[in-house]
Amino acid sequence: MTSIESKRVQYRKYLERAGVIDALSKALIKLYEEQNKPEDAIRFVRKFMCESCPDDAQYDVMKNDLEEAKTHISKLEQELERLRGQIKKSPEEYQELTTEGYKSLIDDEENVSSLLRKYLTPELLEEYMLVTTPAPVDAYLYDCAVSGFEHHDSTVGIFAADADSYDVFNKLFDPIIKDYHGQMDNENDVLQKDPDFGNVDEIENLDPERKYILSARIRLARNIEGLPFFPKLTEKQFIEVEEKVRSATETMDGELIGSYLTMADIDAESQAEMVKRHILFQRGDEKLTTAGCYRFWPTGRGVYHNPAETFLIWVNRQDHVHIMSMAQCGDLGDVYNRLVNGLTELEKTLAFARHPRYGNLTACPTNLGTTLRASVHIRLPLLSKDPDRLIALAEELQLQVRGPDGGELATVEDGVLDISNKRKLGFTEFELVKTVQDGVVALINAEEELEIAGQEG
Ligand code: ADP
Ligand code: MG
Repeated sequence: MTSIESKRVQYRKYLERAGVIDALSKALIKLYEEQNKPEDAIRFVRKFMCESCPDDAQYDVMKNDLEEAKTHISKLEQELERLRGQIKKSPEEYQELTTEGYKSLIDDEENVSSLLRKYLTPELLEEYMLVTTPAPVDAYLYDCAVSGFEHHDSTVGIFAADADSYDVFNKLFDPIIKDYHGQMDNENDVLQKDPDFGNVDEIENLDPERKYILSARIRLARNIEGLPFFPKLTEKQFIEVEEKVRSATETMDGELIGSYLTMADIDAESQAEMVKRHILFQRGDEKLTTAGCYRFWPTGRGVYHNPAETFLIWVNRQDHVHIMSMAQCGDLGDVYNRLVNGLTELEKTLAFARHPRYGNLTACPTNLGTTLRASVHIRLPLLSKDPDRLIALAEELQLQVRGPDGGELATVEDGVLDISNKRKLGFTEFELVKTVQDGVVALINAEEELEIAGQEG
């Protein structure tokens, strides 16, 4: 058989399978049986074939029904999530879940490298399994470790369900915190000194000619004293956090003046667009989902920002608030100054959870201490061509390099990087911002050297 013939056979088989031949035959038979043959035979066939198709009006009704059904499903899903969030587990259930969770870590040993696995010994498990933090939160070890039990690729694998978790489960949290923050040899009682934002004027514009830096941002995380952290926030408390932050922002002054938008009032399209502009967060991270971060979504979530979008507060993203200052240039000094002003304003109304040993408290142990991440989005095309050297250089400068959306370096397009301080605990706020300033300047110098070498060579 020639290839054309074989294609014809295949096509014929396809038409048969799809019912086209059958439908056409029926239409032709119908026309054959018709006593008064119509003038417009094609119209007759078309009409016959479309007998079961909806007309425009019917189509609109169906489309409408579908939209309504989708809205209904999403409401039911929310309701289901709400009900799930309200189920209280008995101590026996907690015991069983914790035992199973731990077993799954041990059974999968070769794939688990989390700090949870490293420091949760059978003895500690036994000791902590049925202990809870004080009422009314009553957080179990399981409430903190559920995400690490389920996601074996976690780096840390544990979140604090409330401020007390850090003390009640201290023999587990403490080594995890020291290990993650490079404080293993620190014998001091205090790992994080009092806040010290230093002399703001010493932080400058790192790229006045706007050659390398696209934007600069510094964020802090805070949790309101007396309320649990996201794993154990009730629906009412999510709203309480939002209300407290909303009223605290009402006294903002000058360039900090802005407005608060609750997530439920932002349509999906605007949300996506705001996420793209880096001024809004979204849900989705699997590890945080398991940890309970998105319960009752979008209730209590939202964003406060000034019209220039240079000062922002994210409410209930993970911690109760993420306070951010941004600039679409390299003026880290301006960003830092605004951040300190914004925090000072908020602290006039809100008391935030602090720990004598760990400083500012956050749900994720990796953010403890200053909770500060100062970052620039920067284009270093020549340095980026040699990722190994770039990472080694950054390491030396105590900086972390990521892709611009927080992702892996491998996803970096046209050399845009997210460069920030690697450490958050054990140093003052000022020291960390200064580290970023000095490090970024050093990287820009290295890039310039490569430019010059390229011109000469
Ligand atoms: P963080 O933990 O500091 O909040 P993420 O990596 O989760 O950081 O990023 C949150 C959002 O902030 C993302 O949209 C990210 O692109 C944006 N972002 C972070 N640093 C900068 C920066 N220097 N300039 C602009 N956007 C930034
Ligand atoms: Mg943030």
